[in-house]
Amino acid sequence: MKAAIVRALGSPLDVTDTDTPRPTSTQVLVRLETSGLCHTDIHAAKGEWPVKPSPPFIPGHEGVGIVTEIGSDVDAVAVGARVAIPWLGTACGSCDFCITGWETLCESQVNTGYAVDGCFAEYVVADARFVVPVPDGIDPMDAAPLTCAGVTTYKAVKLTGARPSTRVAVFGVGGLGHLAVQYAAIAGAEVIAVDVTAAKLDMAKQLGATHVIDATAVDAAEEIQRLGGAHAVVSTAASPDAIESAFRSLRRNGRLVIVGLPADNEISVPVFQTVLGGISIIGSIVGTRQDLREVFELHAAGRTQVVRETRSLDDVNACFDEVLSGAVTARLVFDLRDGS
Ligand code: NAD
Ligand code: ZN
Ligand code: ZN
Repeated sequence: MKAAIVRALGSPLDVTDTDTPRPTSTQVLVRLETSGLCHTDIHAAKGEWPVKPSPPFIPGHEGVGIVTEIGSDVDAVAVGARVAIPWLGTACGSCDFCITGWETLCESQVNTGYAVDGCFAEYVVADARFVVPVPDGIDPMDAAPLTCAGVTTYKAVKLTGARPSTRVAVFGVGGLGHLAVQYAAIAGAEVIAVDVTAAKLDMAKQLGATHVIDATAVDAAEEIQRLGGAHAVVSTAASPDAIESAFRSLRRNGRLVIVGLPADNEISVPVFQTVLGGISIIGSIVGTRQDLREVFELHAAGRTQVVRETRSLDDVNACFDEVLSGAVTARLVFDLRDGS
């Protein structure tokens, strides 16, 4: 099969032919149709996070495709089904976290495209329990970004407590942020979008943001304070400065939900203002299988819009550069179907 392989951290990916994986008794083999490019794949290939992946590996955790084979013990998924393969590749199913709706915090979890080969390939194997059915009627090109960008921001917006009469700011309106804006608006909040490029801010406005702020032109936190301060912020920008600015945007009792994972792993926030302001700082990691089902339901009902552009896997290295340059409005998706 064709795949994009990280041979060494920080080196260009090698797009080449490699062996098609074989499913174990509890796995499914999926012929991928589409695969989204998440900024996490770039961090992974460069080895930018404290816990590093071990090359060689195939990145990609926004995979969507058709099950072509099932392991001998699999009965919940059938050959021919369209499924999504998310970051949460598997979890133990029995720890405190797994049994209380927090499988995303399972200490035995294995992450797709990081600890095991992912979806920048024609085929992938996945734990049958952790693939999520993609409802008929959802375009696989849309389903791919929903599989990480969607589920992650859906969960993060839940943690903001967004509801009518709250003001929610989204810092970073790229792949993740453009969906965060929509989920916050669906929850009834007034949405403020903050980014550093005009095209992304125009898009945010079209997707339901009431206010947009160019962080290169003004101090975003001061602007948001002028509007009354944010009840909550979802920070998707991969920059410590943006997270610190997000903190300064909050009203008293506000919630900072951190989603973006900058290569530079430190932020600085003042203790005094955090305590007296009753501020919550919350880390949010992807979402559960149930969250992803809800994300697909909302999309199938026509309530969300995925902004994406199609690319060929052959161009994966140029695509990384495109994302890093800020030239991509929201998401790039590899079309892996025959003939494309
Ligand atoms: P992206 O590149 O599509 O979007 C990032 C956005 O932030 C861009 O629109 C960029 O212009 C904007 N930005 C950059 N600097 C900014 C600043 N100073 N102020 C405001 N905006 C700024 O990336 P993405 O795929 O949306 O991923 C974003 C981050 O989230 C990455 O670090 C990724 O690894 C992380 N991530 C986290 C989770 C999780 O579960 N916590 C899941 C997926 C991705
Ligand atoms: Zn992701
Ligand atoms: Zn567990």
